Amino acid sequence: TRYCPSFEDKVMRFPHHETHQIYLEPEGAFTDEYYLNGISTSLPPDVQWQMVRSLPGLENATLSRYAYAVEYDFVLPHQLHNSLAVMKWPNLFLAGQINGTTGYEEAGGQGIVAGINAAQLVGGDRSPIVLGRDQAYIGVLIDDLVTKDITEPYRLFTSRAEYRLLLRQDNACRRLSKIGYDIGLLPERHYRQVGELERQLAEARDFLDNTKVSGQSLWRRLRTKELQLDDIDELRGYGAEVCRQLEIEAHYEGYIEQEKNQAKSLQKLTEWKIPSGFGYDMPGLRNESRLKLQRIKPDTLAQAARIDGVTPAEIALLQVHIKRFRETAAAAV
Ligand SMILES: Cc1cc2nc3c(=O)[nH]c(=O)nc-3n(C[C@H](O)[C@H](O)[C@H](O)COP(=O)(O)OP(=O)(O)OC[C@H]3O[C@@H](n4cnc5c(N)ncnc54)[C@H](O)[C@@H]3O)c2cc1C
Repeated sequence: TRYCPSFEDKVMRFPHHETHQIYLEPEGAFTDEYYLNGISTSLPPDVQWQMVRSLPGLENATLSRYAYAVEYDFVLPHQLHNSLAVMKWPNLFLAGQINGTTGYEEAGGQGIVAGINAAQLVGGDRSPIVLGRDQAYIGVLIDDLVTKDITEPYRLFTSRAEYRLLLRQDNACRRLSKIGYDIGLLPERHYRQVGELERQLAEARDFLDNTKVSGQSLWRRLRTKELQLDDIDELRGYGAEVCRQLEIEAHYEGYIEQEKNQAKSLQKLTEWKIPSGFGYDMPGLRNESRLKLQRIKPDTLAQAARIDGVTPAEIALLQVHIKRFRETAAAAV
C-alpha cells in the first residue's frame, strides 16, 4: 500500500533510486534476531534468501522467519453513521482497520468513539457522541471516513484537518474535558481542574485586557511582542499552564479567530440536519452529485458540502428543498 510499500512496490514506483536504506533493528536484548526494516516483501522464500544475502555484511545471515504480506477486507465506511454504527444494523459499531483505515492511532481513536456510542445506546435514550472537525482529530478522521471516497487505506495526517490551530496538543483538555465529563468518562476531580484553569485564564485575560500602558492594553502589547509574560509582575502568581495558554493565544490570536469564524460558518451548515426520507431527485442537482448523495446519505448539510464534487450552489439548492420537505412534513401532521 501507499504508506507501507513492500520492497517490490518500491522497485516499481521508484525505479530511478539507485540505493535503498535498510535498518537492522535488534529484535531484543536476548536474541540474535534482527528485523530488517525497509525490506518488507511477499516475494517467494528462495528470492528472500538471495535478497538478504546480497546485502553487505549479511552474506552468512540465516532467515528465521520469512516476510509475508497481509491482505484484508473492509466495510465501505460510507455505510456507517458518524457514530460508527452500521447504517443497516444500527446496534453494531465498527472501529479500526475494518473501516478502511491503517494505523494504531486511527484504530484506537475510532475504538473509543465506537465504545462510547455502543455504551450510550445500551444506556438508554442517550444520543451518540460525534466529534466535530474543529473539536478533535478523531472528528476529522471519522468525518472523512463516512464522507469521502476511501479508495486506499486511510491514514490520518495533521494536513487532513482544516482547523489545525484549534486542534492543538496543549489545549486537548480544554477542548474535550466537558464531553468526557458529560458522558461519565472523566472523573469530577479532573473536570474541576480544567474548570479552575479556565477560571484563572479568564481572570488573567480580564486583567490584561483592562490594564493599559500608554493607551494600549497589556494584551495588545503581548500580541505584538512588545511585552513578554515575564515582564508582567501581576501574572507571577499564575501557574505554568495558564501562562502557556496566554502566550499561545496572544501570539496566534488573529489566526485562531480566523479559524474559529470558519468553524462557526461550518457549524451553521451542521445544524441543517437532512431528514430521513429526504430524496435527492430534485431538478438542478447534477447526476454525479445525486448519486454520491444517495450513496453516502449525509446526516447534515455540512457533511454533504464536504463530499467531493458537490458544489456550493447545490448545497444552497438542498437547503431550499430541505426547508420545503420539513414544511410539507409539518403540514401533514
Ligand atoms: C507488519 C505490520 C506493521 C505495522 N506497522 C504499523 C506502524 O508502525 N504504525 C502504525 O500506526 N500501524 C502499523 N500497522 C497497522 C496497524 O497495526 C493496524 O492498522 C492496527 O493495529 C489495526 O487495529 P485494529 O484494532 O483495527 O485491528 P487488529 O489489531 O487486527 O484487531 C482485530 C482483532 O480481531 C480479532 N478477530 C478477528 N476475527 C475475529 C472473530 N471472528 N472473533 C473474535 N476476534 C476476532 C483478531 O484476532 C484481532 O486481534 C502495521 C501493520 C502490520 C501488519
